[in-house]
Amino acid sequence: MLRITELKLPLDHADDALRPALVERLGIDDSELLEFSVFKRSYDARKKSGDMPFIYTLDFSVRDEAALLARLSNDRNLGIAPDVRYKPLNISAAHLPAQRPLVIGFGPCGIFAALLLAQMGLRPIVLERGKDVRQRTKDTWGLWRKKVLDPESNVQFGEGGAGTFSDGKLYSQIKDPNHYGRKVLEEFVKAGAPEEILYVSKPHIGTFRLTGVVATMREEIKALGGEVRFQQRVTDVLIEDGQLVGVELENGEQVRSRHVILALGHSSRDTFRALHTRGVFMEAKPFSVGFRIEHPQSLIDRARLGKYAGHPKLGAADYKLVHHAKNGRSVYSFCMCPGGTVVAATSEPHRVVTNGMSQYSRNERNANSGIVVGITPEQDYPGGPLAGVELQERLESHAYVLGGSNYEAPGQLVGDFIAGKPSTALGSVEPSYKPGIKLGDLAPALPDFAIEAIREALPAFAKQIKGFDLHDAVLTGIETRTSSPLRITRGEDLQSLNVRGLFPAGEGAGYAGGILSAGVDGIRVAEGLARALMDEQAR
Ligand code: FAD
Repeated sequence: MLRITELKLPLDHADDALRPALVERLGIDDSELLEFSVFKRSYDARKKSGDMPFIYTLDFSVRDEAALLARLSNDRNLGIAPDVRYKPLNISAAHLPAQRPLVIGFGPCGIFAALLLAQMGLRPIVLERGKDVRQRTKDTWGLWRKKVLDPESNVQFGEGGAGTFSDGKLYSQIKDPNHYGRKVLEEFVKAGAPEEILYVSKPHIGTFRLTGVVATMREEIKALGGEVRFQQRVTDVLIEDGQLVGVELENGEQVRSRHVILALGHSSRDTFRALHTRGVFMEAKPFSVGFRIEHPQSLIDRARLGKYAGHPKLGAADYKLVHHAKNGRSVYSFCMCPGGTVVAATSEPHRVVTNGMSQYSRNERNANSGIVVGITPEQDYPGGPLAGVELQERLESHAYVLGGSNYEAPGQLVGDFIAGKPSTALGSVEPSYKPGIKLGDLAPALPDFAIEAIREALPAFAKQIKGFDLHDAVLTGIETRTSSPLRITRGEDLQSLNVRGLFPAGEGAGYAGGILSAGVDGIRVAEGLARALMDEQAR
């Protein structure tokens, strides 16, 4: 199989225009081309005032590959296509230990860990504290519509994990030499995600489709001999002489196993505390805090796509921004959701935290993103592994009070925030946060250095996206769960530094940030567990 990059076609090209374009580019007769597929499709938004073509990477085979490569040897866009297929480990049900492996948490990391273990014949048991995705959806809407929070079934907890009610962005900047990301996308497609996620440059699924995909993957795991149990909160770990031997559930039941993947997500603060009490090694790590910002999507489209704004093949535009403030802090946009909504994302009573989501169509009125400031344990929360968790809790509790102590979120217009005066009335931008926002002054919601840095960043961002500092754009607070505030450190064998048999994984353990990287880490850790089993049996 060969690969060609940088093949450009107009945005409006017909579906069947790719084959003739490829044949012409290669200078071959159509009969020479045996097959082709799109590996990647992107566009260059910097070309918004001139021609903005789609740029393709195509994989293809021809009758005589050697002859073509020799003839086009000076073409640096042509070469052998790398093999990105997943290579399964050589393991089988014969390696299944007496006690089945456990996976704690059924977010993207736990789902892929369990799926891989099931595909290897290792029949995992998944323990998930929340409910199945259908029931969970109802509970999550309970907070948004009726201000009723279920601490065990919400945006953070339940089947599908934190990304279930999200934009479903599926890209990441992680190094992925084994092409596990490709495996994640292929499994999503098998479970019902649109096929285009395999090749568009910034794929996304949207929340509605993601819920169906998650349920299908659960059934696949069960069909392969796995088990998925909901409303099974793990409250403790059982450790004997540095070896994990099982876990304890909220109802007192003990589930014995010497191989446990811990895929908790970043919001399982009670479990972090339980693990810390048991002496599982963990350390504080950096994360970020800030606000969600909302603009009219049309403003972002115009700034990013120029005359192509609103083009049906491009959809709603996104952005990615960074500013290094004079006080030494970095401010950046986080989890940008084109045509989406800001959501209430707390999992704990009497706390307020924001995030963003959208549907596949991304056709809501507003664009939103987190505008956040990086903070570190050394500078901002010294005091041990749980100090970042405690800081998040304090900020989220204060945001609850600032919002009126009823799950509404504190908000402010961008113009007023920059000018340092409280907002009293909305302008042209209607915020999407449900159950609602309470206008006022956001300055007390975050440490002074963060406010100062964000105040400086918003006008600086307007130099890249005209109108970003629009007076009526809305800030909603607060964004604190940008990543895990701690790391449950693991060694090269992917096991906890001081508890054998415990495989910390995914975002909560500090090894992923986002759906794709969490899925990739699930695969990596499932393989780590399988290798540990093979080693144990070889001894
Ligand atoms: P999680 O998804 O958090 O899953 C952890 C699971 O473990 C949960 O289901 C939880 O209930 C369970 N659990 C926790 N403790 C226990 C326990 N003690 N016992 C049993 N079960 C337990 N990322 C993107 O890449 N793209 C996006 O568009 C995007 N949008 C987002 C929108 C929102 C609203 C949110 C909240 C997050 C979004 N993210 C997005 C981030 C993404 O969801 C996470 O990075 C990802 O889900 C992390 O995966 P994970 O499996 O490591 O953890």
